Amino acid sequence: MKACTVKPGDVSSARVEEIGPPPESDGEVLVQGLYVGICGTDVEVSVEGYGEAPAGHDRIVLFHESLGRVLDAPAGSGFAAGDLIAGVVRRPDPVPCEPCGSDQWDFCRNGQFTERGIKGHDGYGSEQWRVPAKFGIKLDASLDKLGVLLEPTSVVAKAWDQVGKIAGRSAWTPKQALVTGAGPIGLLAALIGRQRGLDVTVLDRVTDGPKPDMVRELGATYVTSVDDLPHPPDVVIEATGIGQLVFDVIGKAAPDAVVCLTGISSGTREVGVATDEVNKSMVLSNEVVFGSVNAGLVNYAQAADALSAADKGWLAKIITRTVPMADWPKALERQPDDIKVVVDLTA
Ligand code: BGC
Repeated sequence: MKACTVKPGDVSSARVEEIGPPPESDGEVLVQGLYVGICGTDVEVSVEGYGEAPAGHDRIVLFHESLGRVLDAPAGSGFAAGDLIAGVVRRPDPVPCEPCGSDQWDFCRNGQFTERGIKGHDGYGSEQWRVPAKFGIKLDASLDKLGVLLEPTSVVAKAWDQVGKIAGRSAWTPKQALVTGAGPIGLLAALIGRQRGLDVTVLDRVTDGPKPDMVRELGATYVTSVDDLPHPPDVVIEATGIGQLVFDVIGKAAPDAVVCLTGISSGTREVGVATDEVNKSMVLSNEVVFGSVNAGLVNYAQAADALSAADKGWLAKIITRTVPMADWPKALERQPDDIKVVVDLTA
């Protein structure tokens, strides 16, 4: 079968390769790959060498944002041929550490977890793949192609889940949310914020293209500068990874605010930060700033619900480009109006 493979760190090696059938050790559910989504991590693996190929190999089957159709599943697995399915990214470490031993691999403490398509385990960018039933998420059939948004939505669902847990420390309910960055993560964070009934403002630097209108269609406010925020935010979901902006929003947040960092920048910019001032304002306002990565099963379930409840026409606008498998390396090259680029594994 055909697969999208790359030698981590050598983007010129990206190609479609003929490989053997998916190994049975990957799981009992056999799936026909339909689409995979591209995110910054795939570019980091391909260009910068983030992650690693499976042990004993120099190439990895790329992609962790998946969508497929079940071809074969054992009775009692919860899946049947024809079901729409997406695969979970992370597998627990073998030790296991305490969180991994409790199915909280997204909180792995020893770093020995693997991630499909990223770290030590082939991904979902192949004509067929396998997954253990426990690591497969059944999707509402009406989502169709939009099911490929499940994995990025799970990352955002985890961020909101953690924000809720942290905000639950005091007798106060957050009302104003700020999302920084209107890429797929930012837009999906805004969607869930609106679904949770918050007033949402999205900050991004672009003034044209589809993003400002997509934000407004959610009933959210779009701004291009931290100076234009309509309210000090009670919650921030930061999805740019830009260090300066991170500190700017920490300084703008309301008392008792919860700031969740989800973005990573590949840059090495240094910013001058008034560290004593930041410390003082965080202490005196009980501010929490925390990082969030990956997602647990509970968050995949929350994400599947969020997608099912969303307006499908709005979700469809997130997918701005579909590239056939034969041309998949082109999907790594960013184009001006790209939001989410997906690869069609059947074309
Ligand atoms: C993926 C996560 C993964 C992280 C770090 C992200 O792009 O969505 O599932 O844990 O990269 O490798």
